[in-house]
Parts: sequence; C-alpha cells; structure tokens
Amino acid sequence: MKKGESTMTEIKFERAAALKAKPQDESKLGFGSIFTDYMFVMEYTEGRGWHDPVIKPYGPLPLDPSAMCLHYGQEVFEGMKAYRAADGRILLFRPEENFKRLNTSCERLCIPKVDEAFCLKALEQLVEIERDWVPHIPDASLYIRPFIIATEGKLGVHASNSYYYVVVLSPSGPYYAAGLDPVKIYVEKSYVRAVRGGMGFAKTGGNYAASLKAQEEASEQKYAQVLWLDGVERRYIEEVGAMNIFFVIGDEVVTPALQGSILPGITRKSALELMASWGLTVSERRLAIDEVAEAYDKGLLKECFGTGTAAVVSPVGELKWGDKVMEIGGGQIGPVSQRLYDTLTGIQWGKVEGPAGWSV
Ligand code: PMP
Repeated sequence: MKKGESTMTEIKFERAAALKAKPQDESKLGFGSIFTDYMFVMEYTEGRGWHDPVIKPYGPLPLDPSAMCLHYGQEVFEGMKAYRAADGRILLFRPEENFKRLNTSCERLCIPKVDEAFCLKALEQLVEIERDWVPHIPDASLYIRPFIIATEGKLGVHASNSYYYVVVLSPSGPYYAAGLDPVKIYVEKSYVRAVRGGMGFAKTGGNYAASLKAQEEASEQKYAQVLWLDGVERRYIEEVGAMNIFFVIGDEVVTPALQGSILPGITRKSALELMASWGLTVSERRLAIDEVAEAYDKGLLKECFGTGTAAVVSPVGELKWGDKVMEIGGGQIGPVSQRLYDTLTGIQWGKVEGPAGWSV
C-alpha cells in the first residue's frame, strides 16, 4: 500500500457516559478554551495507511514521551468554523479548501496525506452530533480544529512512521463585541516569520512558535499584532499574525502575492474573488513597506485590513513602521472593508447567497 492510502470503512461511534453542560452565557465564550463532548480521531500506521476512524468522547490522547511531534515539531493543523443560520441549518464555509490546504501542509512536512472527501464527511458527522454546541447568538460560531501529529516514539530526525489525525471543536464568541473595530499593527523589523523555501505556506506549529516573541513585544507596546516583512530584504510585506493583509491604494486593492512564505488564506482567496466580481481592481503582487509609506504621505492609502477565519475582516487603523506612525481611515471603517465583512459574514451565516459551493 502506498503512503496516504487508507483502509477505512465506517466511522465508529463511542458514546460518552455523560454529556457536559453547555455554556450558559454565549456572550462570554471567548476563544478556544471550551471543548465539546466529542472528537474525531484516526490513526496512520506505515503499511496500513489511515485507519480506525472513530468519533469518541473528547479527552487525552495516548502519546509516547518520545513522540516525534513533541521533539521535532512534525505537525500540521487547520482552522475553520461552523455557523448557525437563522433557519437552524449548520453551515461550513468552503471546507474543502481547508482540507486541500491541510494536504499541502502535509506534503511540506512529510506527513502522509489524508483523503479530503473522507475528512469532510467525518467532519460533517462530528458537527451533526455536536450541532447543539454551535452557538446561537449573532456572530458566534463553533471553531473547528483538525490537526495531525507525528506519534512515532523515536529520537532521530526523520519523518515519523505513525500519526494521529484529530478534530476538536470549540464554541467561540463573537470576534467583535460592538461592530468592526480598527486594530493597531506594528511593522516588525527585527524578527521574521518565514522565508521562501521554508514552511511559511504550511499551517504548522513551528511558524506560530516563531511568531511568539515578536507578538509579545508588540503587545507590550499595545499593538494587536505584527506585520511581517520578508526575511531577506526586510522590505516586502508578507502577512499579519494570523491574517493576510490588504491595502487600498488609490483605486487598487493590493495584497502580497503568495510566494511560499505566506499562508494562503481561504478568507484571502474569497475576498479576492468577491472584489474581482464587484469590478474592483485587485492585484496580488510584491508590495514594499516604503511603497505603502509613500502612498500614505501622498494621501493615497485609503484602507488597510486583515483577513482570516477568526476576524473575517479586521480593519487596521494604525500602522507603525519604526518612527513612522500611519493613521489610516481616521477611526472610520472603509467602504471596501465594510462591504467585504458584510458579504463574507452574510454568506457564512446563510443570510446572503454566496457563489455556488461556498456554503456547505
Ligand atoms: N495567515 C496566518 C499565519 C494564519 O494563521 C491565518 C489563519 N488561518 C491566515 C493567514 C488566514 O487564513 P484563513 O483565511 O484561511 O483563516
């Protein structure tokens, strides 16, 4: 059997002896700290492929202290959400894109690929079982975290011969308590997140570990996130903490091109497709921070916003690059940011009909 092939049939279901109490006040859910009753698990063993898929009570995974994920960071993950529509349907937003990206990440980290259609089917079953955990209040959702970790217990740097694929679910509160709120971003000049040829395009823990130090220093200065520049010239814009970044410069909407060091965001892709369909001039190209600063000085920098699953669209009100502080939009939400936010959240919560296949 070749790597990645699976020997799977039915998904087993192990019922929990008792269910947890659901959160009483959904406005206080926060993010990522409460988990539902069940998780999905399957294992990979060399020679057998992926096997024994099961939905079982949420709980610890048996793990050898020498498991390779703990030592060499061989792991990948995804992040997506389930949304409750007004008519009670539970919707996923372009989930097949997440499984496609998961496999791109697997490829980079020498992890056997998963069967994308099977993973989507398994996710749909898990979410259906947990549908009561999908929050009911506006703008809250059920965060979905699929991940794969290397489990072979061996201290030697090579690709593991066994893995777990796991999906956990976490009800999460609204990102914005009171409407879109501009954030302050700090342009990082010392640290870099990723380089071309590295793993920046993969969703793997190491990229986030690499980002912590800069993030802490930005927080100390009261900035929400850092804007990463390229690792060679420290000049070209890459992305923000957990978001891709867009600038409206004159009549052009620009986002950095994907060149291997940036995560190809699904919100980014969707935003590009929507804006093009609205007739806006959108470009994916190299964009230097000094070009942004020059546009700012000339009064051409109209909007700046991040895109990502968590915030959907996050307007940037202030960009600090060394001593230069760029105040964007004068505390107001720009028309492109607002239209994108309204359209994307409308599609996600089933209020607006999106392009075919976006809502599952
Ligand atoms: N860049 C990074 C580093 C991220 O972690 C995320 C969040 N997944 C994004 C961009 C945005 O990606 P998406 O739109 O798929 O959430």
